[in-house]
Amino acid sequence: MGTISGFIFDYSKCVGCHACVVACTVENSTVPPLNWRKVNHFNRQKLPLLGFVHQSLACNHCQEAPCLKACPSGAYKIDPETKAVIHTPELCLGCKYCTWVCPFDAPKFNAQSGIVEKCHLCYHRLKEGQIPACAQNCPTGALSFDEIEEQPNPNAFGLSERNVYPRIKIVGNKVQSIVPQIDLAATTSTPVNSNRILFQENANSMEWLKEWPLAVFTFLSAFLVGWFWAGIGNHSIPLSPWLMLVIAGVAMAVSTLHLGKPLRAYKSINNLITSWLSREILMFGLFVWVGFISIFFNNIWTAYLASGLGFILLISIEMLYVSVRSGPKSLLSSGNTIAIALVFASLFGEHMSLLIALLAFKTMIYLIKVGSSLSNITPAIAMVSLVRLILGFVIPFGLIALRNESFSWVLLLSVILGEIIDRLIFYREFKPERPFESYLADVR
Ligand code: SF4
Ligand code: SF4
Ligand code: SF4
Repeated sequence: MGTISGFIFDYSKCVGCHACVVACTVENSTVPPLNWRKVNHFNRQKLPLLGFVHQSLACNHCQEAPCLKACPSGAYKIDPETKAVIHTPELCLGCKYCTWVCPFDAPKFNAQSGIVEKCHLCYHRLKEGQIPACAQNCPTGALSFDEIEEQPNPNAFGLSERNVYPRIKIVGNKVQSIVPQIDLAATTSTPVNSNRILFQENANSMEWLKEWPLAVFTFLSAFLVGWFWAGIGNHSIPLSPWLMLVIAGVAMAVSTLHLGKPLRAYKSINNLITSWLSREILMFGLFVWVGFISIFFNNIWTAYLASGLGFILLISIEMLYVSVRSGPKSLLSSGNTIAIALVFASLFGEHMSLLIALLAFKTMIYLIKVGSSLSNITPAIAMVSLVRLILGFVIPFGLIALRNESFSWVLLLSVILGEIIDRLIFYREFKPERPFESYLADVR
């Protein structure tokens, strides 16, 4: 195995002084509080006997960089001379997808500029024969820069279990085994898992309510595909072509609200070769236009084609989240948009028994997920869950049992609202991988 220049981080020497962060800020003129390098501190609560662990991380210029593959606009490039993973600001849409896929929390979204920024390995210094400013200025030698093995430490303590091959070598990780365990018998406090308290501060979930444009876009995509599918069996799509365009237009317009640079949205299909986000946008456009043509000209062959494109669109949406998600609920959250499309295909196709079966299945999955995280449920989430159950199952079940056609709009509205809440809760549960996340899964 060959060697490559990279960071070396020694847990046992890091005192959490932030000199590396300051050095990066000064070298690259970044504007605080946004920093390209971050020192994660554990045991912020300063609980006695737990000890302290610090971890200095920035971009690790992965040799299989997920950010580079995922970015829809192709904003990430490899510098041929230094092999640094470089972000190109002019190409960035501010979609934040790279902040999800990076397991080291390296790309930082700058709300002022509307795009992300990240460490560039001080490649200007490397080209002059110097080492990065952060490593140069670490006073204890905890962070250094030198030749390391190409694949230095798969599954190193505090890093990712994914095979992304970060250019960082971890040493001094014996801190892991010398974290003292609290003698529970000697305390009167509530029993605690000391490892969990020590590392939990870095567990990171999305600010899910801010993701409402994504929830609306993905919901409307699945809604349209389901509505379209409803007519395939009897060769008559129960959807006006103009209404399809209006709903699709609303979905696209809302989705751009998620971008830091909405006017650059046209660059989102730059990276079809590796980015599921690019594929999702392309498939959405193809589905809508082929679907529109098929309904407008009442052509069954283009309708079959549009149905297939709709299915690929939903697969693309799912793949966006599958490749990022961590945690035990991953499987239960898979196929969410496909399930939504099937619900609306049954509703608009008037297959009520199938609709009830699907809603019951979704409700069961939902209850399993809620049941597995009862300890984290706040009163607000409990209330939202109750509303979701009433709208997404109780009311539809009651209306279908009554067989009263005059309530069909109430049924439609109830199912739509229930499914939108379900989609929002999907984003609440969605957790991109972060440093120590896989370790936390073991100590939970
Ligand atoms: S550390 Fe994150 S941002 Fe840097 S190359 Fe790896 S995946 Fe990309
Ligand atoms: S376009 Fe999106 S994925 Fe690409 S760098 Fe910008 S925020 Fe990250
Ligand atoms: S390598 Fe340079 S840009 Fe990257 S964190 Fe260190 S000082 Fe900052």
